[in-house]
Amino acid sequence: MNLHEYQGKALFAEFNLPVSKGKVVFDADEIIDACNEIGGSKWVVKAQVHAGGRGKAGGVELIDNPQDGVEFAKKWLGKNLITYQTDKKGQPVNSILVEECMTIAKELYLSAVIDRETQKIVFIGSSEGGVNIEDVAKKYPEKIIYEAVVYGDKALSENAENIAKVLKLNKDQTNQFIPMIENLLRLFVEKDLSLLEINPLVITENGDLHCLDAKINIDSNALYRQPDLAEMYDQSQEDPQEAEAAKNDLSYVSLDGNIGCMVNGAGLAMGTMDTIKFYGGNPANFLDVGGTATQQRVAKAFKIILDDPDVKVVLVNIFGGIVRCDLIAEGIISAIKEVDVKIPVVVRLEGNNAEKGSQILSKASIKIDSINNLADAAKKAVEFAK
Ligand code: GDP
Ligand code: MG
Repeated sequence: MNLHEYQGKALFAEFNLPVSKGKVVFDADEIIDACNEIGGSKWVVKAQVHAGGRGKAGGVELIDNPQDGVEFAKKWLGKNLITYQTDKKGQPVNSILVEECMTIAKELYLSAVIDRETQKIVFIGSSEGGVNIEDVAKKYPEKIIYEAVVYGDKALSENAENIAKVLKLNKDQTNQFIPMIENLLRLFVEKDLSLLEINPLVITENGDLHCLDAKINIDSNALYRQPDLAEMYDQSQEDPQEAEAAKNDLSYVSLDGNIGCMVNGAGLAMGTMDTIKFYGGNPANFLDVGGTATQQRVAKAFKIILDDPDVKVVLVNIFGGIVRCDLIAEGIISAIKEVDVKIPVVVRLEGNNAEKGSQILSKASIKIDSINNLADAAKKAVEFAK
């Protein structure tokens, strides 16, 4: 689960990490009060969305007049911000973070992720911050350090010094950096993060380290023990079909093709997508209805798939392992009637009572293409999609 920048920075402050004085607002009318409360004569206004690249897309602005902040808020609130990290629709802007404007001497990069190979948390640092780190990794790999760390380990200050060298920090800054790494690691572990990124981490005009941006991703499987963080969930930032699927315990990932897929089992779902691709088609989604492909779940899955206007055909590929294919066939027919599916549906059933299931589908009053072989079913779906 992703957090907004303002939520991430609140966590940073809680863990004694240096962030700008700021206030989040949900209405353009609140901007002037926010600027006054923060004080000073220069501010930065930042559209809050679950995506980076806002600066380049006009979603971050430096202002020296609160009225310009009001204009900025009027321009963005209720609109979608499109950045190179969003899809073509962009992400809705529902809040603006107002902050005191810092004077920057240098922009650096710092992040932490879990490296599954070494089973450790790895800090990634670079002297080149404020830019797309993937580009730095390609062009100047020598300017990036990957430092594996262990929570509570004595070597942590050494780890921090190794990173500080690559960031080209001086002695004072390194002395600030060591507790910063300790606090970030404590935050990472205590709050069950899976990703933490500060881009840019800056050196201010006074030579101090300061976190100017905050991207935090929390391990969703750990949310049950992070109730305060779970409350920060912002559904508006999620793909609506994915959110609806998650509510119904269906694993759904939307993709940009036009063949809707309904499959039971993640491996079979991936195999189905590969087969569609092999025959020149493009899946509109990954969908695993799970082991219990009941009529209700199949109906819900049809609804979610059909909410995508790009879908031209639905390919159902169900393996009857625990469930019986004849029951699934009846479930599919009822679900198609219930949801009033108007596009072609190709069904492949395999496993328990598969033949009986196919007979039921062929005799149905609605037209369903029942094909026993996955390759032929995928080919048929690709044909329909074209
Ligand atoms: P992102 O583009 O979504 O990653 O948003 P950031 O929070 O990283 O902001 C984009 C850029 O705005 C930063 O790289 C900075 O150059 C600039 N910026 C953000 N806050 C400040 C600030 O307080 N002072 C100054 N001078 N620039 C800022
Ligand atoms: Mg940034």
